[in-house]
Amino acid sequence: MDLSTLRSLFPTLAQSNDGYPLCYLDTAATSQKPQQVIDAMNHYYHHDNANVHRAAHQLSARATSQYEAVRDKLCKFINANRREEIIFTHGTTESINTVANGLTAQIKQGSLILIDSAAHHANIVPWQQLAKRTGAIIKPIPLTADCRLDTAAFDVLLSEKPAVVALSHVSNALGTVNPVKDLVSKANQVGAITLVDGAQAIAHMGVDVQAIGCDFYVFSGHKMYGPTGIGVLYGRFDILDRLSPLITGGEMIKSVSFEVTEFNVLPNRLEAGTPPIAEVIGLGAAIDFIEALPSEQIHAKEQELLNYLQDELKNMGDVVLYGAHTDNLGAVAFNLADEHHQDVGILLDQQGIAVRCGHHCAMPLMQSLGLKGCCRASIGVYTNKDDIDNFIAAMESVKELLL
Ligand code: PLP
Repeated sequence: MDLSTLRSLFPTLAQSNDGYPLCYLDTAATSQKPQQVIDAMNHYYHHDNANVHRAAHQLSARATSQYEAVRDKLCKFINANRREEIIFTHGTTESINTVANGLTAQIKQGSLILIDSAAHHANIVPWQQLAKRTGAIIKPIPLTADCRLDTAAFDVLLSEKPAVVALSHVSNALGTVNPVKDLVSKANQVGAITLVDGAQAIAHMGVDVQAIGCDFYVFSGHKMYGPTGIGVLYGRFDILDRLSPLITGGEMIKSVSFEVTEFNVLPNRLEAGTPPIAEVIGLGAAIDFIEALPSEQIHAKEQELLNYLQDELKNMGDVVLYGAHTDNLGAVAFNLADEHHQDVGILLDQQGIAVRCGHHCAMPLMQSLGLKGCCRASIGVYTNKDDIDNFIAAMESVKELLL
């Protein structure tokens, strides 16, 4: 595949904004979709639209086989041990809620839950709700001054024998990468249940859940060039099998009477109701898209662009970067001197540049940085050097205007 033509596979990127070519630097919020993902979903609605699992007719059989084939694809994609370990949800948020809710009976009063201080709210609030239900205690795992997870503090917290350790693989706000394999291995040694939020990692690196050794790994389709409304919950079979379901009804049952319901086996037990079928098929097409890319070349190109972006921002002066390291993935967090992040975002938008501004669903992280919010520029496989140069030129003009 010719990397210079990669961009042309994404129809949204062909537009301009107020005469400026669209410079999309908001991939961490959601990625653009390649034509083949859009086509796969259209094809399903044009030719195969039927509910899955339930009917004897051919349309349903076709829909079911396409839907289940994506489970097999995902199983290989993240190296799960068996297909039943892949649960379709509506996104990372629902995946974490499914785990935190499903563990209720296993968590006791006073049990300790450790959460990465840079976590997205989706990896904080479900655990808080679990703590409310059970009387468990939440402790954040602190960050070092340069915004990396403080591994020495983590070791101390592990001596308190946490019941759960919830980590981000890559911080959505900063792009910092956690050494999840080492962290999970240590957490496993004290018998903690481990969950890794891979929402920001899955599009930027190969993920091998068995090598990481975590109990749960979660991500969203829309951050990996797939559609919105589809997410994945990977769980190690034995622990996944012990989760009580968050949602009940539909295909998640084996038998129902007014006296008693017997739940189905995995994976159906955790997939209640009609699933997002077209979205699952779209996710399958997104995996095909990613797998057809020359992964080493892509990762090298993304890393080079991100480092270029970090350097250009640093060299501008008057720009403050947060947690910027050369081994970060996908995103750069910054502010322009004391200017409000929203003002900077709006002025960039007027020049066709799409970045995200705000707390990035990481309010505790923002508080620890002494910020109300910041701007974030994030990249994907379609980002090129022109995007970065256009962004930097636009930042220069914003700087001129505001400072
Ligand atoms: N976790 C991280 C690290 C994220 O970046 C996001 C989305 O921004 C989420 C969780 C929530 O994902 P979703 O909104 O797709 O459920």
